[in-house]
Amino acid sequence: MISTNPFVSGKYLIGGDWIAADKTANVINPADHNEVVGEVALCSKEHISKAVETAALAYEEWSQSEIKDRADRMRQAANEIKTLVEENVTLLVRENGKVLVEAKKDLLRCVDIMREAADELLEWWKPEVLPGNQKVQIRKRSRGVTAVISPWNSPMILTFKRVIPAVLAGNTVVVKPATSCPLTIMTFLKVVASYFPKGVINVVTGSGKIIGDALCANPTVRTIAFVGSTQTGKEIMRAASGTVKNIYMELGGNDAAIVLEDANLDEEAIKRLRLGVLRAAGQVCSAVKRIYVHESRYEELVQKLKKEFQHLRVGNGIQPDVDMGPLNNKSQYDYVKGLIERAGETGATVFTGGIQLDPESWDKGFYILPTIITGAGQSSEIVQAEQFGPVIPILRFTDVKEAVKLANDSEFGLRASVWTEDESVAVQLADRLEAGAVFHNNHTVFQDLHLDFPGLKESGLSRETRHCGLEFFADSYGFAD
Ligand code: NAD
Repeated sequence: MISTNPFVSGKYLIGGDWIAADKTANVINPADHNEVVGEVALCSKEHISKAVETAALAYEEWSQSEIKDRADRMRQAANEIKTLVEENVTLLVRENGKVLVEAKKDLLRCVDIMREAADELLEWWKPEVLPGNQKVQIRKRSRGVTAVISPWNSPMILTFKRVIPAVLAGNTVVVKPATSCPLTIMTFLKVVASYFPKGVINVVTGSGKIIGDALCANPTVRTIAFVGSTQTGKEIMRAASGTVKNIYMELGGNDAAIVLEDANLDEEAIKRLRLGVLRAAGQVCSAVKRIYVHESRYEELVQKLKKEFQHLRVGNGIQPDVDMGPLNNKSQYDYVKGLIERAGETGATVFTGGIQLDPESWDKGFYILPTIITGAGQSSEIVQAEQFGPVIPILRFTDVKEAVKLANDSEFGLRASVWTEDESVAVQLADRLEAGAVFHNNHTVFQDLHLDFPGLKESGLSRETRHCGLEFFADSYGFAD
């Protein structure tokens, strides 16, 4: 049964036209493989070139548009998007696997992104006059065609956080969502695109491995905003290296949580830690992916977390009483399953918690119960790799210096957290942890749209920390009088 919005299913958008693709693939529901949610267009390299060309043509006028006009259009689009949240929230659950409340939050956040970025634009775009003897202004101008490539785990937010500021800053965009859940993005971008001149927003889909180069190596593309895995990030850098582009990357993570001897491990703290690990079934770039706990608190933490995991209801996110849904796709499911199995085979202890809400239909979904691994070594695969699933290794340490060393022993550097009653100790550790952001007694995502710290090391490149991301999508230039 194909039951999604027929206007976007199996189509791509170029220059205001939604075009049915010759080749498509099914988008399936990760909670029930038998449900085909819709189709995704498998675009060719020629389609990509056409989309870039069209965006370049639209850029000529859009880059000259009035700032206020851009902001007005975006606010009007946001008002319509808000009215579409209720009717489309189940689509996001069905193609992504998120639980309903999380999916709704994500969609509403897209409305905030649009409104806040539109408000911010008006102030941010104003020229800044520098102090000094010479009269110099810093002015801004748009850059050109922008490629936005996004992953499947939080498809809406991670796409909107780039597309919206890029368009507001006067660029035109070619968006490439992930193949396993493009439909909600396309349904919403269809509406957003209708508020802007044709060609300002274009959407193409298909295997990144096949069409990625056509987008990233294209000399007309001036900016690439990519969120996804580190490996793909490197491939994109290679493809883009023939031309000098602005590249913004938010990549993989292997966040460490360090639990100190004096940590408060009450019910609330355990719940926060559990959410840090298991939000969206662990498919969050900045989820806790390793826990290091002081040896004196090790047993206590392991027991408390096991108890917490045991009560979680796992099932189809569409049901109201579900705590955790399935993984998004088969390859991620196989990968996480493999990690758990190999951890067990190499001598670690595997604890499986959770409650199967609907055991009869369990085999139809990509479900993995919340899992705790103990007894794994620092160099083991489950500790070193990014699991991106509902499984957490817990390791012990004897002194704080060792804990920092273990946490930093990773190619990644996205986020970290320190759990202690002493804030000054938390700050001291934060200064030594190689992470783009460090949380104290929590491990979460930033709610404030002005706060977004890309990772260090192999977790990211460039910073768009303030002004709702606008900073990254325009060039600043000096004007001297
Ligand atoms: P992925 O890298 O496999 O794919 C991301 C996007 O890139 C998809 O649209 C894909 O089709 C496309 N792509 C793949 N190969 C490409 C190529 N050669 N050229 C151009 N595009 C290509 O990532 P994923 O599996 O969709 O997402 C999970 C990963 O994303 C995890 O590693 C996670 O940590 C990371 N992530 C990071 C952040 C962050 O903010 N740092 C946020 C979310 C997800």
